[in-house]
Amino acid sequence: MHPSFRSLILPLKVMPMDYDTISSLQMNRWHRIYLNAYWCMIVLSLAVACVGYPFRSVSEESALYPCILFPTAGLSAVAIVAELTLPRMKAYQDFFMITTATAMCAVLVSSISMITFIQSLFVLPLLISVIYMRRQIAFYAFGLNLSCFYVTTFANEAIRVQTTRDQIILIHLLLVAVLLIALTIVARGRQLARYLQSVIDAKQELLVQNVVLDKLIKTDALTGLYNHRTFHEYLDKLLELWNHQPFPLCLAVLDIDNFKTVNDTYGHRAGDIVLRAVATAIQEALTPNDFAARYGGEEFAVIMTEKSFKEAYAMLEDIRTVIANMRHPELDGSSVTVSIGLYAHRANEDKERLFEKADMLLYEAKHSGKNRTACAG
Ligand code: GH3
Ligand code: MG
Ligand code: MG
Repeated sequence: MHPSFRSLILPLKVMPMDYDTISSLQMNRWHRIYLNAYWCMIVLSLAVACVGYPFRSVSEESALYPCILFPTAGLSAVAIVAELTLPRMKAYQDFFMITTATAMCAVLVSSISMITFIQSLFVLPLLISVIYMRRQIAFYAFGLNLSCFYVTTFANEAIRVQTTRDQIILIHLLLVAVLLIALTIVARGRQLARYLQSVIDAKQELLVQNVVLDKLIKTDALTGLYNHRTFHEYLDKLLELWNHQPFPLCLAVLDIDNFKTVNDTYGHRAGDIVLRAVATAIQEALTPNDFAARYGGEEFAVIMTEKSFKEAYAMLEDIRTVIANMRHPELDGSSVTVSIGLYAHRANEDKERLFEKADMLLYEAKHSGKNRTACAG
């Protein structure tokens, strides 16, 4: 069916809503924010080093490289690796971001060791880890930063000499305290996430129910075709579109011949089965641009858009022949036939006129012997 026609009748589609998908989409945004923050940190550290540089007492040569170039080059290298690697990573992006933050802290701690207690920077990656709302990541950040603290402090003579025992104790306390805070935030975040998930689930359930209800309201329970009301709604909307810009529009009314006799002979249950079989035969013959409804009783209506009158006639004749050739075990192997009235919509005619014309043609088909298609194009 033409997309604009399809939207006139089809029920809403349920959009899959999954908390993991939502959070991972959001995560890409957060990673970008963090990478930007890393670049800002590089600019800031360069600015701080440049401002502080003239006030340093050490000689020009010994201060230029360690104070300005080393940290800037080191931080830039880490940020560039992160920029290049992160988009290619499918998994473990979270661990990678923590590792990047820790690497940056390690570069800063190793290159600006002259600042007292610079190792306290190692709590930052642990704080960053809370955005992932996972205990595992928080423990990873804790372990990695504690290890980096040991490596940077004890592998570098200058840092080791100026780090007091109190500072070592303090950094441990600081890391443990921040880990506990991070775990508390993670626990609270997970509680909120569970609540959000339940809200999403409820909303999803409601959407599904909406779709089911929508289908129930629009379709006929026995045949599964659209019902009388939907037929009129759809035709109203189509004619509105047609008045703006005409397009081929044909209406056919189909009626099962001598159905009362079928019911009287084989019972209503058999009649229902036959009704369903006829509806299925109609539905199966339709192309995507067609619409079929059970108009009422043993009467069906087919609306064809974007099909020439000749094509519409050919399709209905196919339907008629298929139905006439179907053998129904419920009717002891006999068949039923249908009569059809087919009419092409014209300018200056309204819905009532269109239906009236098709119905008159159906009457004509009945009176000229049944099991035939009467038409006026
Ligand atoms: P014609 O060829 O002129 O259309 O004759 P007909 O017997 O088909 O028409 P009539 O209008 O006299 O009878 C229609 C019958 O369809 C009467 C009714 O019992 C039956 N019918 C309507 N709806 C249903 C249904 O849902 N199930 C069953 N089994 N029969 C139905
Ligand atoms: Mg009938
Ligand atoms: Mg009838």
